[in-house]
Amino acid sequence: MNNKTEQIIFLEPVMKEVLWGGTRLRDDFHYEIPSDHTGECWAVSAHDHGDCAVASGAFKGNTLSELWKNHRELFGNLEGDRFPLLIKIIDAKQDLSIQVHPDDAYAKVNENGSFGKTECWYILDCDSDATIVVGHNAKDKEEVAQMIHEGRWNEFIRTIPIKKGDFFQINPGTVHAIKGGTLILETQQNSDITYRVYDYDRLTDGKPRELHIEKSIDVIKAPFDVDSASSKRELVKGDSIDNEALVSCSYYTVVKQDVHGSAKLTQDKNFKIYSVIDGEGSIDGVDIKKGTHFILPYGYGEYTLEGNMSLICSY
Ligand code: ZN
Repeated sequence: MNNKTEQIIFLEPVMKEVLWGGTRLRDDFHYEIPSDHTGECWAVSAHDHGDCAVASGAFKGNTLSELWKNHRELFGNLEGDRFPLLIKIIDAKQDLSIQVHPDDAYAKVNENGSFGKTECWYILDCDSDATIVVGHNAKDKEEVAQMIHEGRWNEFIRTIPIKKGDFFQINPGTVHAIKGGTLILETQQNSDITYRVYDYDRLTDGKPRELHIEKSIDVIKAPFDVDSASSKRELVKGDSIDNEALVSCSYYTVVKQDVHGSAKLTQDKNFKIYSVIDGEGSIDGVDIKKGTHFILPYGYGEYTLEGNMSLICSY
């Protein structure tokens, strides 16, 4: 590494064991995982429940939350009490519960000043018959409450087929669930507030998990607006890099980049987060491969991505 590449913030992911998890974080990404039920890799996180350590370079020995606290200049002196984004890779071997997140305004009042949560999913891989839950089929709020109270889940839940490369924006108030056989890269607001609507009547240690029915009904938007979950993807092909804008909202912009050759780019944002999702190559001569996650800090300037690889970039 040289003076410049020392500034790249490479992060050590934090693995999470969960009942619905599997082994693909080891099988596909070669991470060390704690058990055969590992469901989440917190790849870029400054959250209390999983604070990523810096793996190398000038900031080795710090966690991302420490950099946010003590070196805010790395992030363009952005305001806020926490690093704003959280990137996860999710291996859902089994179905996750059906849930919904509040927006900032609702969370502020009802969750002690917390933030709401907007998130988005890039489907890294999935079984050929995989599906996902995005939205519901009730015509208005009254029918939402009715269907939920009466447990008419098959009618209520909007399940759709998915394939590798699909992308979904999950705005607050959107009923959603990742279903089994799906590997996802999730970009989200750094928040934990989740209301569980339905858990398929499953038992954990003999007991059902807690549901948050009334809060869910409060925040679920009705009717579901299909357009709110899809974004206009725009692909711009180039000689050495293809750029595809996946979504841009008030919390993040997410872009997919396919590098085939040597591409010169500029870091002109407060920060740029990168996750290599396929292939291998280098950033300014430093080797990176599928499963590498890093942040280019404020003022990094020009950089070169080289190789044959796909990356998800957010800022
Ligand atoms: Zn969610």
